[in-house]
Amino acid sequence: MTVVVVGAGPVGVTAALLLACRGLDVLVLDRHAEAHPLPRAVHLDDESLRVLQAAGVADAFAAVSRPMAGLRLLDGDGRTLAEFPRGAGEHGWPQGSMFSQPDLERVLRDALAAEPRARLRGGVEVLRVDGAGPVRLTVRDRDTGAEEELVADAVLGCDGARSTVRRQVGARMRDLGPGERWLVVDLVADAPLPVWPGVQQVCDAVRPATFMPVADDRYRAEFRLHEDEAVADLDLAGLLGRFGAAGCTVVRSAEYRYAAQVADRWRQGRVLLCGDAAHLTPPFIGQGLGLGLRDVHQLAWKLAAVLAGADDALLDTHQAERAPHARALVRLAVLLGRLMTGGGERAALVRRSVLSGVRRVPRVAAFATSSRTPPLRPGPLVRRSRVAPRSPVGALLPQPPVAGPRRLDDVLGPDWVVLSGGAPVPPDWPGRVLPVADLGSPELTRWLGRRSVLVRPDRIVAAAARR
Ligand SMILES: Cc1cc2nc3c(=O)[nH]c(=O)nc-3n(C[C@H](O)[C@H](O)[C@H](O)COP(=O)(O)OP(=O)(O)OC[C@H]3O[C@@H](n4cnc5c(N)ncnc54)[C@H](O)[C@@H]3O)c2cc1C
Repeated sequence: MTVVVVGAGPVGVTAALLLACRGLDVLVLDRHAEAHPLPRAVHLDDESLRVLQAAGVADAFAAVSRPMAGLRLLDGDGRTLAEFPRGAGEHGWPQGSMFSQPDLERVLRDALAAEPRARLRGGVEVLRVDGAGPVRLTVRDRDTGAEEELVADAVLGCDGARSTVRRQVGARMRDLGPGERWLVVDLVADAPLPVWPGVQQVCDAVRPATFMPVADDRYRAEFRLHEDEAVADLDLAGLLGRFGAAGCTVVRSAEYRYAAQVADRWRQGRVLLCGDAAHLTPPFIGQGLGLGLRDVHQLAWKLAAVLAGADDALLDTHQAERAPHARALVRLAVLLGRLMTGGGERAALVRRSVLSGVRRVPRVAAFATSSRTPPLRPGPLVRRSRVAPRSPVGALLPQPPVAGPRRLDDVLGPDWVVLSGGAPVPPDWPGRVLPVADLGSPELTRWLGRRSVLVRPDRIVAAAARR
């Protein structure tokens, strides 16, 4: 069985690693010979680190990233309005990690090169994708111009914001908020800057800005641009000076239009969309890449099951589960962006009092106090019968230390598993039953209590039973 992944960005390569781990042969195609050289993502949360762990690259990622201290909201004069610290999380990794995207892509591509079931072909552009499965792809070699036809059992469209595969499945992007122009500036400092080791967000209607240490000697600054403003007219040294970074070397400065969009269709037969091909978010909560990593983590085991003979209907849950989750996070990013930077001059007068009470906005408060993202909605693979705010069903199982010491996911293995705290296990639950007491984790024993939970291969809790 061969799966073709279109796009060797971080989402496509992670998908290939996860599929290869499940015994599938994977061909990754990218129109470029090399990885994208410019830094884009700089933050990942600890849920996303669980995906990198499943792909076998979390330790290598930890070596090129550093824990993030949190988010600090400042007013236009640099005074702190609110602070949301981040620390050790419930998933065995820091709640927030800072990194440079090219470093992550190098780690992923090195792992792919060592994976005998996966192959990466660069310099190949996918032109057309036809058929529901087997799927025919028409590709063009960018060096020779020669066209060729390939056949795959399934295709993942991980081909980014301007996805060709998205067009081929007849999907359209739906706006969830207005686009905004931002200038993104990457910096290198000769000596460490005496700055707070977290993300600083300047909440100023005139010039909203973000500043953060990334990794090693690298820093990132972002400034919102007015619609009619020319980048050349900006006093960049003056703007950087507000963060004590005027003396840094600018290694690149690029303008982006941040979009807030989710595709209205994620699948046609065995052609499925993941990552930026399916959703685009403003980066205010650093979730664009994280969403894509969750897409492929939750899809890899379903696709492997279907290719091994399970009903194709299992793939219907891809959009049904992932689209509402993506919409919730994109909307949260838009909301936070508005709270932090929206409005005009008059809004700035009330911003101080609004932001000092920002923890009272329920969705913002939930995000501020934990790195947890919203649970998946109830469905065939998420058995939550009624609204139960404290139910673990639909959310990621925590990953506290277990005896060994080992990481829980590595002990649980790649399949369905039942964690038993004593409650009788319903007969239709798949997977081996593991008494929690055998894991030697007081934290997990406390979390589970006397419940039993059914855990999916992507570590989402599918169902819970009480004694
Ligand atoms: C300024 C900025 C800051 C960001 N900050 C964060 C952050 O802090 N945290 C976070 O989680 N996210 C962040 N993001 C978002 C993150 O960078 C993206 O979500 C992520 O790169 C998407 O990965 P992807 O693999 O889906 O797509 P991409 O990285 O875009 O990869 C798509 C690949 O597909 C290839 N391709 C496209 N079309 C074809 C075709 N027809 N044939 C063959 N190959 C094709 C391309 O060459 C490319 O290699 C940020 C983005 C920006 C711009």
